[in-house]
Amino acid sequence: MRCGQTREGAGKVGLPGALGDDIERGVCAECWKEWLQTQIRVINHYGLRPAIKEDREQLYRLTREHFGLPPAAERTGG
Ligand SMILES: [Zn+2]
Repeated sequence: MRCGQTREGAGKVGLPGALGDDIERGVCAECWKEWLQTQIRVINHYGLRPAIKEDREQLYRLTREHFGLPPAAERTGG
């Protein structure tokens, strides 16, 4: 786990694509629970509306930053 603890992984976190995979593999259940709390403040701080795609993508970027995950390779098309 990225936090250095040998704890149970976060398991299915319901996030799409590589981000979901990275979290399921690299983030423990404790850290994930912590982030779910922090995330509420982050959403309020940035005024994010998760129903909107752009805001959701920003939230995903912040989620990666929080866990120190490498940025997603964002490629569309060829
Ligand atoms: Zn952890």
